[in-house]
Amino acid sequence: GRRPLIAGNWKMNLDHLQAIAFVQKLSWGLKDVGHDYDDVEIAVFPPFTDLRSVQTLLSADKLSLKLGAQDVSPHESGAYTGDISAQFLAKLDVEYVIVGHSERRGGHGESDETVGAKARAAQAAGLVPVICVGETAEDLEEHGAAAIPVAQLERAVAELPADAEYVVAYEPVWAIGSGQAATAEQAEEVCRALREQLREQRGETEAAATRILYGGSVTSQNIASFLRQPDVDGALVGGASLKVDEFTRIVQFKK
Ligand code: 13P
Repeated sequence: GRRPLIAGNWKMNLDHLQAIAFVQKLSWGLKDVGHDYDDVEIAVFPPFTDLRSVQTLLSADKLSLKLGAQDVSPHESGAYTGDISAQFLAKLDVEYVIVGHSERRGGHGESDETVGAKARAAQAAGLVPVICVGETAEDLEEHGAAAIPVAQLERAVAELPADAEYVVAYEPVWAIGSGQAATAEQAEEVCRALREQLREQRGETEAAATRILYGGSVTSQNIASFLRQPDVDGALVGGASLKVDEFTRIVQFKK
């Protein structure tokens, strides 16, 4: 089976000093409650400027938390002011990188083409891209829930080689930061359609192995209902990942 992944996307929150304090508190707390990382994988996605500090802490204390980044350049190196390469991230023991978050598609005008190129750059450097897809409220009205996310996924994975490991995150834009999560049934419907797309495009083995996460107003109150769905393999958590106690309850959703 697919090992659940709970990912905390900090967005533009917590500086590197706050990050160290947060990760220490989180990992000690998880030790106290006997969290089994083989059972449920946990990753945090701090801002770029925190990554070196968090990496140092994770390796010094031999912590089992995984490290992710929130974005990556599609380019290898060169004259791209302000960009961060996948190689830089790989050197910091970053394992995952978010590509195509709606806050970048919307706020920074990223096209499906750019998102695909970022996923490819990440994969080529040995990182696992977390490909975000999701429909806006207007898309939902016009096209229903699944059409836009499925099309976004199709274009992104088309850029990846056949043996690539990647994670998909279904985040309805209307559910992000709104306190208005999708229902578990709505999430399952779209996650099932996304897996069906992977089956057609990439084959059964890859479709069965790929983890599909739900994101959008996930809390300790609703996490278990999402993870009970057959095609939901974890969560991408925003606001609730910034509170140690709440995030600890979320990753302990089985208890
Ligand atoms: P919230 O959990 O704050 O709704 O954010 C979800 C998200 O965008 C995670 O990437």
